[in-house]
Amino acid sequence: MKRVVRLAKALLAAVMVSVSAATSWQLWASHGQTLAAADTNNLNLAQALNIYTEGIFTQSDMLLQGVAETLKAEDSAREQMQRVQSLVERQKRLLDPLDGVAVLDARGNWLIYSKGEIPRGTNSAKRAYFIHHRDTRSNEVHISPPIRNPFSGEWGITVSRRLEDEKSEFAGVVVIGLGLQNFLRAFGTIALPDTGTIGLSTNTGQMLVLYPYSEKNIGLDFSKSANFQRHFSGTSGTASFRSSVDGMNRLYAFRKSDRYPVLTSVAVGREQALQAWRRQALLTLAVVGALLAAMAAVGWRLIINIGRRIRAEASLMAAREDLLQANRRLEILATQDQLTGLANRRSFDEVLAQESRRAARENTALSLLLLDLDYFKGFNDAYGHVAGDQCLRAVAMALRRSIRRPGDLVARYGGEELAIVLPSTGLQGACKVAELMLEQVRSLGITHSESPHGQVTVSIGVATFRGSQSHAPELQLVEAADAALYRAKENGRNCWVSQEEWVAG
Ligand code: GH3
Ligand code: MG
Ligand code: MG
Repeated sequence: MKRVVRLAKALLAAVMVSVSAATSWQLWASHGQTLAAADTNNLNLAQALNIYTEGIFTQSDMLLQGVAETLKAEDSAREQMQRVQSLVERQKRLLDPLDGVAVLDARGNWLIYSKGEIPRGTNSAKRAYFIHHRDTRSNEVHISPPIRNPFSGEWGITVSRRLEDEKSEFAGVVVIGLGLQNFLRAFGTIALPDTGTIGLSTNTGQMLVLYPYSEKNIGLDFSKSANFQRHFSGTSGTASFRSSVDGMNRLYAFRKSDRYPVLTSVAVGREQALQAWRRQALLTLAVVGALLAAMAAVGWRLIINIGRRIRAEASLMAAREDLLQANRRLEILATQDQLTGLANRRSFDEVLAQESRRAARENTALSLLLLDLDYFKGFNDAYGHVAGDQCLRAVAMALRRSIRRPGDLVARYGGEELAIVLPSTGLQGACKVAELMLEQVRSLGITHSESPHGQVTVSIGVATFRGSQSHAPELQLVEAADAALYRAKENGRNCWVSQEEWVAG
């Protein structure tokens, strides 16, 4: 029974654990999918921005080459200036971030500036891009970290190229300034979350442009940053780490240019990328939680009910068992005499009536012995009622021991009178039984000071009849046995007297 309750509890627990596990797994899977989707978005944007910046650098390079070619012509300085200016004017429409173009001689003096007059003595020999070209024999373009325009003070990055004379000696630098604000305006047109950033840096980690703009971020250098080295290797990729600039955990995607040593990166705050997922997850958890709570409540109620029903069934069974036992006790009480344990008067009457019918039907003999304790009143007076009861019980046990056939019945007829029904027993057999019983009682040897025999004895009246058609022959049998008993008493007691065998009816 308890197994059923245990099984129900285990089933409820299994269902709840399965639902919880399935929900957790589903939430975890959608968490991964959300991060993967954010990574893909970032990567696509980095790729598109890379194409945009590559375009700017390609055009800058072409302009640099155009200016260098212009300078080779044998024109006057004024004519060269005009040619450069018109070249810049034409390109400006195509190259948004273009701020200006300058030509420097081998000592760093400014020779030509597309935006107008050069104050006397303007020199950029100490600028990093100038030193790079002077010391590096390479025709590659050089892209510098942000520097201020020496005239306007605006922040910008430079794209520059080395100039050489006929002997391939260093002859100066042609440099393009790209305004930082122009880049930022272009990046600003892209819809990004609040926590989104766009970065343009050199491959080595020198930040060129970082959107959103902040003056304090100018000149950031990640070349020694562990995150930059670990996560931004290869041509493109994604990573998630805490920004060393503002401490925010972001999802990064980057793309390196195939043609220029620059890297474009796009990032969004990890928390913000997961915001929609988190809302959905909370909703799911609330719904599933409520469902689980309802399931637990209903399940628990059911289990309690099952337990109650099982207990009710068990107590019902116990009550039924008690009732059966009580019935059995009642049955015994109804047929048994309390004091002696012999069949009672009621049982005796039934058996005697039944056996007389059978004797009549089968034409067999039926004998009855009526037995009375001698001088029993005197015994009670001498020894008390309790001793009288014990004596009666001892005599009853002795009589029962004398009975051999299963059909024979010893009953308490009333008071200290006992009766023995002997079916299929003739007078001779009944007298033998009477004799045996007298012996049995005598052999008990219960002292009886008030009796002339000195001990407890009985007197027995014996009666027998054979097959009868008459109505209720058992009454005549009792009367006959009683009369015989009376004679036995008269004969001095401690003896049996038999009625001649008679055929009733
Ligand atoms: P008799 O030899 O003539 O039978 O003498 P008696 O004293 O036995 O006379 P009787 O049979 O008339 O007496 C019956 C007495 O048996 C009365 C009562 O004191 C006693 N008696 C009857 N039933 C019980 C019983 O259940 N317990 C006890 N202790 N005594 C009983
Ligand atoms: Mg009597
Ligand atoms: Mg008596």
